[in-house]
Amino acid sequence: MAYLTLKGINKIYPNGYHAVHDFNLEIEKGEFIVFVGSSGCGKSTTLRMIAGLEDISSGEFLINGEYANDKGPREREIAMVFQSYALYPQMSVYDNLAFGLTLQGVDEDVIDQKVRHVANILGLTDYLERMPRALSGGQRQRVAVGRAIIRKVGVFLMDEPLSNLDAKQRVTMRAEIAQIHRQTGATTIYVTHDQIEAMTLADRIVIMKTGYVQQVGTPYELYFKPANLFVAGFIGEPPMNFIRRTVKNGCIEIGGKQLDISYKLGQLKDSYEGKDVHFGFRPEAIVLGEQENAFVLDANVELTEMLGDNTNVYVNIADANAILKVNPHDTPATDSDIVFSIPKESVYLFDSETEDVIDIEAVGAAVN
Ligand code: ADP
Repeated sequence: MAYLTLKGINKIYPNGYHAVHDFNLEIEKGEFIVFVGSSGCGKSTTLRMIAGLEDISSGEFLINGEYANDKGPREREIAMVFQSYALYPQMSVYDNLAFGLTLQGVDEDVIDQKVRHVANILGLTDYLERMPRALSGGQRQRVAVGRAIIRKVGVFLMDEPLSNLDAKQRVTMRAEIAQIHRQTGATTIYVTHDQIEAMTLADRIVIMKTGYVQQVGTPYELYFKPANLFVAGFIGEPPMNFIRRTVKNGCIEIGGKQLDISYKLGQLKDSYEGKDVHFGFRPEAIVLGEQENAFVLDANVELTEMLGDNTNVYVNIADANAILKVNPHDTPATDSDIVFSIPKESVYLFDSETEDVIDIEAVGAAVN
C-alpha cells in the first residue's frame, strides 16, 4: 500500500491546452478516492499523470513521500484498469490473469496460487478455462480487474471501469469493486462522470470542472456542505433547485412572497444588499403543505414522474421553476395548485457573482 502526494500539479498539453490547474491532494494509504466531473474536466489526464503515462508539466508528485515525477510507469508499482478492458481474445481467463506474472518470470506454482486466489475473490473460479468471448460484459470486466490486482502494487487506478456495462451490471460491479477494495485494502483512485458511483464508492471525492478542483470531501460533505454552485448542482439527483434573486432589505421575492434570508447572511447582510444570490434547495428537502420554520411557497404542477420510490414533481412558482421530490402516495395532479415548505435549515445561498456558497459560519458570524 502506498500514500500519494500531489502538489501544485499542472498539465499543459503540447498544443498549449491547459488541462489541469494547480491540483493539490494527499491520498492516504488504503484510501478510496474518486475523481468526478463532466467529460473533459481533466480527470483522466490527472490519473494518467499519476500512472506515469503522461508527463507532469509542473508541480510535484510523491509516492510514499518520495519524488516520483520522473519515475516510469513500471517503477511506480501502480496497476490500472481502463475503460475498454482489453483482454487477450485468444487466451483463456486463466492465461489472461496469469499473463503479467508469466512475463515477469514468476514461478508457475506461485502464479497458479495467485490466479486461483484472485479468481476466488472475483467469483471467476468456474470460468478459468473459458475464452473472453464466452463471458458476459460483467465477467470480462472482472477479469480485467483481476489482471490489475494480481500483481502486488501500491496503488490501483481505474478509469471509468464500468462504462461498457449495462445499468444492472454496473450496480453489481460497483458493489464488487467496493468489496474488492475492502479485501485488498489497496489505495485506489477511481475516475467516473457518474455521481452515484462517486457517492457510493468513495472515502473522499475530488470534484473537478474545466481542469480545476472544485472541492475535496467525503460524500456527506459534498452533499450537505457544497462549496459552490457547481458542486451543489452536480451532486444530487434531481439536482438542487436554484432561483436567482436580488437581495432587498435582507429578503428575496419568490412568487410574490418575501423570504427573509438574513439568517443566512448574518453580518454579511449589508454587503449583499442589492446583489444577486442563488437561493438553493434540494428537491428532497421540501415538505408538501405548510410547515413551521420554513419558507412556504405556492406552485402549479406542470408534470409528475412516478418512479416507484418517489415522484418528481416539476412545478412553476410564478416566474421560477423547481423540481420537488415527494412520496409517490402524495403525487399531486398535473396542473393542480399546491403549497410546499422549504425548511429554513435546508436552504443554501450562493453568491451569484463568485458562485461560492455563502457560509456565515465560515466567516465567523453568529447565526440568528
Ligand atoms: P476527462 O477524463 O475528465 O473526460 P481528460 O483528462 O481526458 O478529461 O481531458 C481533459 C481535457 O484535455 C479535454 O479538454 C481534452 O480534450 C484535453 N486533452 C486530452 N488529451 C489531450 C492531448 N493529448 N492533447 C491536447 N488536449 C488533450
